[in-house]
Amino acid sequence: MLIPVRCFTCGKVVGNLYQKYQQLVTEEGMSKAEALDKLELDRYCCRRMILTHVELIDHLLMYDVHSRRHMHRQQNQ
Ligand SMILES: [Zn+2]
Repeated sequence: MLIPVRCFTCGKVVGNLYQKYQQLVTEEGMSKAEALDKLELDRYCCRRMILTHVELIDHLLMYDVHSRRHMHRQQNQ
């Protein structure tokens, strides 16, 4: 799903860091620990928010009835 905006434990805003984290790990080839350190996520409660997040939104959109109807209409035209 979507990344939670704040850390569940301490309340620090972490929702804006997930995209930067993915960019650091995939494009710049940093290790996960280095990327989290660079993003200044020092507390392990905040680090777990980023590390344990699973991006499911693309999978869920396959089951969205409204967008499937729209795609179906486009295919029939
Ligand atoms: Zn935290």
